[in-house]
Amino acid sequence: MFSFGERSNALVLVALILTALFAFWSITFQPVKAQSAPPIPAYVFYDLNYVASNLRGLNGSMIATRGLTKFLGSIYMYEDFWLQDEINQSARVPVVVRFAGLPVPGNDSLVQVQGTVAFSSLEGGFFYLNASSVKEVKNVILIGWDGVQRNHLFELLNNGSLPNLQSLINDGTIANITVSDHRTDTKSGWTQILTGYRWWRTGVYNNAYWFHSIPLGYTIPERVERYFGENKVITAHITGKLGHMEVQDGTGTTANGSYTHEAIYSNLQSQVDICNAGDRNATVVGSIALQFLGNHSKSHFFAFIHFSDPDSAGHNTASGGENSALYENAIIRCDNWTGRILNRLNALNISQNTLVYVTADHGFDENGTSHNYAPFITLATNDKRVMRNGDEVDVAPTIYYGLGMWDNAFEPALDGYPLQISLPAGVGERRLAILADTTQPPKPTITSPVAGVNVFGPAIVTFNASDKNLKTVLLLVNNTFKADGPWIWQQNETVRVNGAYSWHTIDLPAGKYVITVLAFDEHGAANGPAMSTVTVNVATIPEMPTGLAAFAILIFATFLLVVVKRKHI
Ligand SMILES: [Zn+2]
Repeated sequence: MFSFGERSNALVLVALILTALFAFWSITFQPVKAQSAPPIPAYVFYDLNYVASNLRGLNGSMIATRGLTKFLGSIYMYEDFWLQDEINQSARVPVVVRFAGLPVPGNDSLVQVQGTVAFSSLEGGFFYLNASSVKEVKNVILIGWDGVQRNHLFELLNNGSLPNLQSLINDGTIANITVSDHRTDTKSGWTQILTGYRWWRTGVYNNAYWFHSIPLGYTIPERVERYFGENKVITAHITGKLGHMEVQDGTGTTANGSYTHEAIYSNLQSQVDICNAGDRNATVVGSIALQFLGNHSKSHFFAFIHFSDPDSAGHNTASGGENSALYENAIIRCDNWTGRILNRLNALNISQNTLVYVTADHGFDENGTSHNYAPFITLATNDKRVMRNGDEVDVAPTIYYGLGMWDNAFEPALDGYPLQISLPAGVGERRLAILADTTQPPKPTITSPVAGVNVFGPAIVTFNASDKNLKTVLLLVNNTFKADGPWIWQQNETVRVNGAYSWHTIDLPAGKYVITVLAFDEHGAANGPAMSTVTVNVATIPEMPTGLAAFAILIFATFLLVVVKRKHI
């Protein structure tokens, strides 16, 4: 046995080990919530209306602002232009800029300008923005073709069946996209495309395993609203599916969710300008999209337009499937409506200011009527800067790059990178290693409590799990998400997790409770989660009349006193 001194030394040692393990865990793993440092703002952003009426007061300040370029002959010098507010035309600021190698924006381009406010004594004197950088700001339309398999798309492109997508590609390019971390289905696919996060940051692994709504502020339209300012940009979320794309809790497939009834897009309705969701085909969605463009062509905008037709045709077991005419015609219908959108941009004279990206959430099983393992998709665009293939997690960063938002500090940091730039060193190799891992993670071990025991009050649930590419371990009680950490992570040949969770049962009704531990590796598209469960009984202490309870406590206290006294003698 330990003497008191030895025991306290042992306690100090244990505390030291735990501290060291925690420090190791925090520097090597951030499995769920990565933090990014806020940027150091060199320029302070002001609305152009404010700048126009406060130029004198801002003299000497480093500022950034945004507006339309107006090259009116020569105002003062060759490179000068007026920056004019998009809506309030009387708000104008003269800008002097040396384009030294930078591309010159066209007249009426929406640009973001950074520079220093200065005074010129020319022509009676005026304040102006002496610009050091001018960046064009584009509208973006993200068009979703739900469930379009990469190979089938190329077949149709090659035989000339998709003239509109082809013309978009002729203006830009088409890239191969692969799904890696989550299942190949609607819920997880669009969630990743619209956030730029791996599934363990959004909580959406597939159509069955999703644990809550996408956290507030994580989606592209929400970030666009925040970055450009609610009144300075129009955002739209127009979809052709309700199931697996719910915007309201408890509706559609969320009504029968095994783990939650929260809609994945439940935060969106209050955050975007136009949220229009429903089960309908491309004809209905396309018409709404054209209407949107007609109404908002004068504004800076981001729109997500989602066509569900190929997925529905692919799932049709009677006359559909991946190799059916029904599936092909559904893809052709998407092409047709994409063409109408492109034509409308032309007619509204905004195609120069608008980037269009067309992608799918997942492919389809070859010759099948499902998409159990269908990670191969594409991204077609008129954005000439797209220069590489990528992971589905790269789509949102690509959109942010297109919108001119890539310099923004994303909180938490995005998991992908724009297709317009090369991957950082080592990322491509790491991704290939993950895709090569097609081994399911082993079942986790729940070490305590053991099956069938009675549990009173606070209980500690302990477990461990391991896998070569283990990424996230979730604890559920009665299918309700309880925690995804912090656990203790160790990395050698394999990644190992030891978890402890303090489960408060004191207020729970008595009965059977199922504790579940789910372990996921990084290649979730191929490898499902490994699951272990333990069923225990939560028992309550029988109630006693107050007098009897007081008597029992008195007896117990006396007993304790006697025991303690005897030990010290
Ligand atoms: Zn589907």
